[in-house]
Amino acid sequence: MSPERPPTAAPAGSELNVYESAEARFEIAARRLGLEQGVYRYLKYPDREITIYIPVAMDNGHMEVFIGYRVLHSSVRGPGKGGIRFAPDVSLDEVRALAAWMTWKCAVVNIPFGGAKGGVICDPERLSRTELERLTRRYTAQLAEWFGPERDVPAPDIGTNEQTMAWVMDTYAMHVRQATTAVVTGKPLELGGSQGRKEATGRGLMICCEKAVAKLRMKRETCRVIVQGFGNVGSHAALLMHQTGFRVIGAADVHGGIYNDKGLDIPRLYDWVYGQGKSLAEFPGGGEKVSAQEILFRPCDILVPAATENQITAANARRLDCKILCEGANGPVTSQADPVIEEKEIFIVPDILGNAGGVTVSYFEWVQDRQGFFWRESEVNERLRDVMERSFDQVVQYAETHGTNNRIAAYILAIDRVARALKLRGFYA
Ligand code: NAD
Repeated sequence: MSPERPPTAAPAGSELNVYESAEARFEIAARRLGLEQGVYRYLKYPDREITIYIPVAMDNGHMEVFIGYRVLHSSVRGPGKGGIRFAPDVSLDEVRALAAWMTWKCAVVNIPFGGAKGGVICDPERLSRTELERLTRRYTAQLAEWFGPERDVPAPDIGTNEQTMAWVMDTYAMHVRQATTAVVTGKPLELGGSQGRKEATGRGLMICCEKAVAKLRMKRETCRVIVQGFGNVGSHAALLMHQTGFRVIGAADVHGGIYNDKGLDIPRLYDWVYGQGKSLAEFPGGGEKVSAQEILFRPCDILVPAATENQITAANARRLDCKILCEGANGPVTSQADPVIEEKEIFIVPDILGNAGGVTVSYFEWVQDRQGFFWRESEVNERLRDVMERSFDQVVQYAETHGTNNRIAAYILAIDRVARALKLRGFYA
């Protein structure tokens, strides 16, 4: 096993990329766990990485070729599971990291999936609906033999949504010549989607915040919350936290944010952005304008980074002014910022626990599709709460037993589960 990275803060500008961050934490956890060499090597590398070149006829009659990826990190505990990201800055390293995180996330919440992730380098905001449909269908067709309810099950991520999943499902169905709803999750309800899936990641974050507040003997009513990112994850986390009595005082999207120490009217803000299609930063509901980055450093009790990767780095982590950091995005904190956060004694709910509500309800969706029997929303939410509360308790217990922080504890719990499954299966030669 290679040597553990020293837990020191890096000088500004020398941060690790997301893949290196994921690896650094894996190595610390593997060492703490005393993972044996063979298992360590097996879990360090993905099962497969596929790069495809996707020709798409554009509306103007020209042909463009997009680069796409699908990485299966592990199928030790079940089929690969993970979203498809459409964004201009997608890279193989990023998809690789996100795939590994899916393995650990599914293991933390103990659902029978491995980890996978996909991505296409494109700017979805600059593609028409028909171009997006052709791109999605061609991406799916080129990967059809690798997808399947028992093989690898995609879901939405940044830049993709329910409609994208409907196109993936339909394209796959045309190839295998039968309707196969369980090949993707995050689908529209009409096509076998699950009640509660849209809000699930935000709901999981809200449940983790409730647990963290109780653990630290804080009072929810006096807890001030800031959410960075107001997309699927951030907007629902903010709405649900507002509804359950937290005071949400700041919110931002990529164009900027607003801050009001007395609290923001989140349902009105949600309607402003999603009902009226207006810009979050222009919300007239009273509040100071703050940049998308600065919102992270305003004083609050709970900070929920729910936008994108590498927002909190060794260079800026000292400016954090929160008691709880509950990660909605994947990898919002670089591994080199971890020691600073530990030094500041911030209680961390790591991404592989905090945002696992999404994949948990994706699992429920897959189960419902395979049974052809659908649950009420209250049933979905109740089962989600059970999973999140149990997982939170297990991570905190692992942290206490292993004398480590919650992030490394979550990795230890996950790696331990995957390693046990791997040893039971054995190495097929
Ligand atoms: P989304 O595309 O719906 O929303 C992203 C939001 O972040 C938007 O409001 C965007 O404006 C904002 N944003 C982007 N860059 C920003 C920046 N630099 N500063 C401030 N705001 C910025 O995406 P999403 O589905 O909400 O996913 C957000 C994160 O959560 C991603 O890291 C994703 O991988 C992760 N995640 C999503 C789910 C899910 O169920 N959707 C589940 C688990 C994890």
